[in-house]
Amino acid sequence: IYGEKRRNSRGVNLNIRSHYRPLMEAMNEVMDKTYRAGPLLAVEVTDDPANTHEVKCPFDRRQIVGRVQWTTREQASQALDAAWAAFPRWDATPVAERADILRRFADLLEENLAELMALCSREGGKLLTDGVDEIREAVDFCRYYAMRAEELFGEPMPLPGPTGESNELSLAGRGVFAAISPWNFPVAIFCGQMVAAAVSGNTVLAKPAEQTSLIAHRVVELLYQAGMPRDVVQLLPGDGPTVGSVLTGDARITGVVFTGGTDTAQVINRALAARDNAPLPTLIAETGGMNAMIVDSTALPEQVVVDVIQSAFQSAGQRCSALRVLYLQDDVADRVIEILEGAMAELHVGDPRDLGTDVGPVIDDDARRGLMAHIERLKSEGRLVAETPLEAAHTAEGTFVAPVAFAIDGIETLEREQFGPILHIVRYKTSELDDVIESINGRGYGLTFGVHSRNESFAEAIAQKIRAGNVYINRNIIGAVVGVQPFGGQGLSGTGPKAGGPHYLLRFATEKTVTNNT
Ligand code: GLU
Repeated sequence: IYGEKRRNSRGVNLNIRSHYRPLMEAMNEVMDKTYRAGPLLAVEVTDDPANTHEVKCPFDRRQIVGRVQWTTREQASQALDAAWAAFPRWDATPVAERADILRRFADLLEENLAELMALCSREGGKLLTDGVDEIREAVDFCRYYAMRAEELFGEPMPLPGPTGESNELSLAGRGVFAAISPWNFPVAIFCGQMVAAAVSGNTVLAKPAEQTSLIAHRVVELLYQAGMPRDVVQLLPGDGPTVGSVLTGDARITGVVFTGGTDTAQVINRALAARDNAPLPTLIAETGGMNAMIVDSTALPEQVVVDVIQSAFQSAGQRCSALRVLYLQDDVADRVIEILEGAMAELHVGDPRDLGTDVGPVIDDDARRGLMAHIERLKSEGRLVAETPLEAAHTAEGTFVAPVAFAIDGIETLEREQFGPILHIVRYKTSELDDVIESINGRGYGLTFGVHSRNESFAEAIAQKIRAGNVYINRNIIGAVVGVQPFGGQGLSGTGPKAGGPHYLLRFATEKTVTNNT
């Protein structure tokens, strides 16, 4: 089996007191710290209070977690100059050296687990369990890509020379990559993009999501501590229009790696295509999903509900892999809904730092407003199936949205991805199954998909017919593991190649064939 010799990080088990206690103590030390962040560039950056923004905590908007200075257009251009100049030197650096930096960085991420988790919860609203998984995934990305880079970028690959010439194929970096990352995985995806681009020989301009700039800043400090040269990876916190336009408008950008909304990926694609005299760029985009699960009449309702709760509501539904549309076969629908109602009534929404919390806040006021508008609309249409109670005392100051489930007629009635804890349920009759599959495929997204059935050939047949990047049979549909479930979608959900998979680095590279007739 490919990659079997490599081990993923073990993480910590919060259920074990000897793991949990010291971690909490270390986290508490930085719980009240006020952070300062700003651009980390090859050149010195002067303070600019007028361009500095407050970062509020999603579960208590009165708390200021820190302040972040945004990158100006001029600084973004300067960063690009430095990245462009550094590329030939970095690309010529032996891959083993580049990979070693990633391994040291992975160690530092593990050593700084408590602080990074505290930041994930204070700036990103993450549950402790999600925080552990987040840092683990970042660590795994680093070690996996380090290993893969050495396999791919080391010695050139000899090819047949039937005419007496020798032929060799080698890989190299493409140039300057912009890495534009989301707030929902502010360490894992942020690191994954950045280290994949850098270890492949590219220089990188990393633009984190506005909402999670403090975490990004701390992570890049650790990357420098691991030995990454400052002109190879630079951090450009800021807003899309200012920083993003430099990153997608300049002819020296040879590639963009992006995770976020499908609309934004399309804007980036158009901006890259509109550049005059620019080399044809690479766009690696991992975008939204309208992820479905089909449950047939043979499925075990109890197991279905456990997997549905995790898939739809873990991380407050703020994963692009999250379940959005649950298709229930008519014969089991009532039973599944009955158990689901009970389970949802028991979920606890609240402070993400409490181990007893199941669902933390959504990222910010805008996100909350958008989700609430959708919820109010479906409620007013009388579509409510089940919901989790929201305790006013906990939630007065935070951006909380309680899990909720609605009945809808089909996936095609949903206009857009609702990035939060909202589940939609559709009942179907066995005779309608082909139409169900057609409408899921026809919606155009293709990220994750689940099927629950004890009829093996049924489950496999469905898995074959569905066009999605990650298909899960009889389990939840989130939490893809590096090197084990390479992650990424197709169609409106992304370009591939898959993160945490053996082919990911290839898209960051250019290939050269040398034929030698001496
Ligand atoms: N890789 C994550 C998972 O499998 C989702 C990543 C995302 O939300 O962008 O749950």
